[in-house]
Amino acid sequence: MAKYTHTMEMPRRIVMGSQILDEVKGVVNDLGFHNPIILCDKITYEIAAQYVSELLSCPVIYATHADYNEVERIVDELPIGLDVLIGVGGGTIIDLAKLSSRLRSVPFISVPTAASHDGIASSRASIKKKDEKTSIQALPPIAVVADTHIIASAPYRFLAAGFADLISNYTAVKDWELAYRLKGEYFSEYAHQLSLLSAKLMIKNASLIREGTERSVRKVVKGLISSGIAMSIAGSSRPASGSEHLFSHALDMIAPKPAMHGEQCGVGAIMMMYLHGGKWLSIKRALKTAKAPTNAEELGIEEETILDALAMAHTIRDRYTILGSQGLTREAARSLARTTGVIRG
Ligand SMILES: [Zn+2]
Repeated sequence: MAKYTHTMEMPRRIVMGSQILDEVKGVVNDLGFHNPIILCDKITYEIAAQYVSELLSCPVIYATHADYNEVERIVDELPIGLDVLIGVGGGTIIDLAKLSSRLRSVPFISVPTAASHDGIASSRASIKKKDEKTSIQALPPIAVVADTHIIASAPYRFLAAGFADLISNYTAVKDWELAYRLKGEYFSEYAHQLSLLSAKLMIKNASLIREGTERSVRKVVKGLISSGIAMSIAGSSRPASGSEHLFSHALDMIAPKPAMHGEQCGVGAIMMMYLHGGKWLSIKRALKTAKAPTNAEELGIEEETILDALAMAHTIRDRYTILGSQGLTREAARSLARTTGVIRG
């Protein structure tokens, strides 16, 4: 009999609360780190990174954009003797910290200043590599310090995007089940249920999220962390990334000005749920309630670009979904987008 091994990488400590940046020091000390360095951008420096760097008396590196060249530049800049990298920022900074720390073989601590996607506690990083944007496997953060006061102060659009990214777990798990049944892919019932739970709690709490308060932030952040844990249990992004994510990755590649990751995934989830024959209207309603985009116009993307992305989504990566291996014809894409109200034309 073949030996069964399944490894799960998880964060060791997760701290969430209001005005709790001081906790970063305790986390660094308790986990036995002595030489931290902070990665941030000019904006998150003002918001939180300056405070943390003074608290820890440690240096700061600035990141400017989210592509692979930037990861390489950051890795070159990391000093010798560094033992932990602290990413202080939105999704981009967290992704850059995740990949840079992986390449340097040091752990990273996630200090999100926005809750815009489930990368804040997961092992997947979404980084652009030669005009292709897809997700790369790395390691989850060793710790997460989520200050709900700071996250609630970010523009509401970020929180709505995080909410929409969680809603998209609905279609991701459907695609995963399909791949399990049709292609014999590995499937974890635990990861599946945990991912689904985050999505269900978002639908249930859509009105609360809309308020944009610290209570709303707590709900979304817990959901994003649970979603990250579901990916850790599965050992892949399967529980939280299916055809709706392929659609979003396609938009990132071809749209002149893509919308936010979670926003695109939310709109993708409406359409992919229709293809699955599921309750796409309840997904659309929840997104509307939380003031997340539900159509091309609200995404700020041309209708034709939406159709192009739908037609090419199945080619983005080797992941079996409801789009199958042939994908959608342009006619089918148009009819899908029209029926679900994503486009008018
Ligand atoms: Zn996502």
